[in-house]
Amino acid sequence: MLDTDQWYFEIGDGQTYGPFPLDKLRKWAAAGNLMPTHRVRRADSSEWTIAAYVPGLELTTADTVPAPVVDDDGEEVSRGKLGALVQALSRKRKPAGHGKAASADHQESDIIALCDELLEVAYQRGASDLHIDPEENITLIQLRVDGVLEPLRKLPKSIHAAVVSRYKVLSKMDIAERRMAQDGRFFHCLGPQQRRVHIRAAILPTTHGERLTLRLLAVETELLTLNRLGMSEPALRTFAAYTAQKQGMILLSGPTGSGKSTTLYAALRHRLANHPGRFITVEEPVEFDIVGVAQIEVDTADKVRFDTVLRNILRSDPDVIMIGEIRDFASADVAIKAALTGHLVFSSIHTNSAAGVVTRLIDMGLEPFQVAATVRLCVAQRLARRLCIECRRPRPLSAAEAAAVGRPDAAGTTVYDPGGCEQCNRRGYKGRIGLFELLPIDEDLARRIVDGANEADIARRARERKIPGLRDDAASKLLDGATSFDEIVAVSAW
Ligand SMILES: [Zn+2]
Repeated sequence: MLDTDQWYFEIGDGQTYGPFPLDKLRKWAAAGNLMPTHRVRRADSSEWTIAAYVPGLELTTADTVPAPVVDDDGEEVSRGKLGALVQALSRKRKPAGHGKAASADHQESDIIALCDELLEVAYQRGASDLHIDPEENITLIQLRVDGVLEPLRKLPKSIHAAVVSRYKVLSKMDIAERRMAQDGRFFHCLGPQQRRVHIRAAILPTTHGERLTLRLLAVETELLTLNRLGMSEPALRTFAAYTAQKQGMILLSGPTGSGKSTTLYAALRHRLANHPGRFITVEEPVEFDIVGVAQIEVDTADKVRFDTVLRNILRSDPDVIMIGEIRDFASADVAIKAALTGHLVFSSIHTNSAAGVVTRLIDMGLEPFQVAATVRLCVAQRLARRLCIECRRPRPLSAAEAAAVGRPDAAGTTVYDPGGCEQCNRRGYKGRIGLFELLPIDEDLARRIVDGANEADIARRARERKIPGLRDDAASKLLDGATSFDEIVAVSAW
């Protein structure tokens, strides 16, 4: 293919761009602006294809990270090793012919090595998920890091089935079954310390083959402590005090992926360390194992079993109960009964604001007096990416930005933009930080709830009492240099 070829491309915004010479597209691909999944077509053809098929365009942000790390034996580790394995497998698959049995053996060990290496790379990059997505002619491997999906590399389609089978074996799935969704889990030892990492696997059949998602439940349980969540000092003190209560409910709200379960686990661990007792959790799924806690995994799709488990947990005489999520009257009812009968209940609920928790429970069918009597603390949470402190770039906050974050007084304060360095894989961000709003239900609010206060009334009362909201917390984390203006704007699309 000549580099002077002209190409059009689409990046999913409904526009077609081009034509541009292939060289130019390669540059954009190398800079991470054109992804392997974007569609491209030659100017003289009407046929679209994905960028990953075009030589030079398979480059991803991952491939632009320079200098593979070399270990003591002079062997390339991490991405370099992965690259070598993929190349070896691509070469071997091509010539089909004699000596097949021997090479099949060899291939199997290479596939195992490749699968291990993919998990290793995912772990070392701090990814929460490893996606193995079959396309028409290739298999795309992507990682989700700090909530953002990034391409890692493409694999020849010829080894897709072997790779998926390997993970099926590990997670004890039926390897003969290729038409049904399946899930499973396994442990794998990863990282320099060979840490045992819990991995949840889910398979979904598609027209191009089985799509596999591996979730690394790698957040080391010992890191799940309250002071690592990113709460401000006063919020931390308030939250810790509520986890020491004998009874009542502590409810976390926020959309999916806002870090609610991490906070719940940290809260449980805090309570367990300071006030040991009998703990029981009902979760879907169990995301972290906590020593000293009886954890029950239920599939909420199995309504009968879920409700039975919920009703039965009270009979096992726990002190503290965690219900992964309150999603309907049945779970809300059990939570309320437990909270009214001398148990401390932790749970989460899908609402956008702390004030919304109360009205959501009432909408589910609970009586306002039940809610007022049991809910002690409502917490709203979001996650923002944390700036890499090695490469963040200082600048003054403009007056317009200061006004936008509700802190006009802070114009001119130094804030930071993301940079990009080795430490953060050129992302400018490393890890995430929680944004929190803590709304204690005191006597005054409880009385208003009984009297029929709605979400707006509760929110107004919180403002009158000068309780910092999510936006206030976001602004202070911007001013602390923990995150960027762009990031809190993105997170603030509430
Ligand atoms: Zn950096």
